[in-house]
Amino acid sequence: MVRESRVLQRLRDRLPRGRSYVRNGSVVDLQVARGEVSARVQGSSLYRGTIRIKPLAAARWRALKTACAGQITSLVSLLQGKLPDNVLRAVTDRATGLFPAPSEIELDCSCPDFATLCKHLAAVLYGVGARLDTQPELLFLLRGLIIRNW
Ligand SMILES: [Zn+2]
Repeated sequence: MVRESRVLQRLRDRLPRGRSYVRNGSVVDLQVARGEVSARVQGSSLYRGTIRIKPLAAARWRALKTACAGQITSLVSLLQGKLPDNVLRAVTDRATGLFPAPSEIELDCSCPDFATLCKHLAAVLYGVGARLDTQPELLFLLRGLIIRNW
């Protein structure tokens, strides 16, 4: 049997609290900018959580664009948020897609908790996940592929 690492245990402990913070409206002023997500989280005090994401490497972006070239046949579908399956697969591929690897993510919170992932940052992660569900194009901004939100 594989023992769960301490990091995973901590993550499992904190994510439910993060989720409830989002549901209770404790995450305020969530901002998505180029390579950065920041929000204020109301816990026992008001803290600022920041998630920094490294820009996508130029070579990886070129390869991704090549893989997707000619695959998007309808601009109307694209504007409705519908991507062909092969484009969606390319964009979400763990090794070659748009999503950052854990090593490309830096977490920072103003609270005194020394844990890598405090409950406030868990809340910010939940908050940005919900935001990306409704505005997936923000992923391009987060990965530094566009200058600002449109
Ligand atoms: Zn914190």
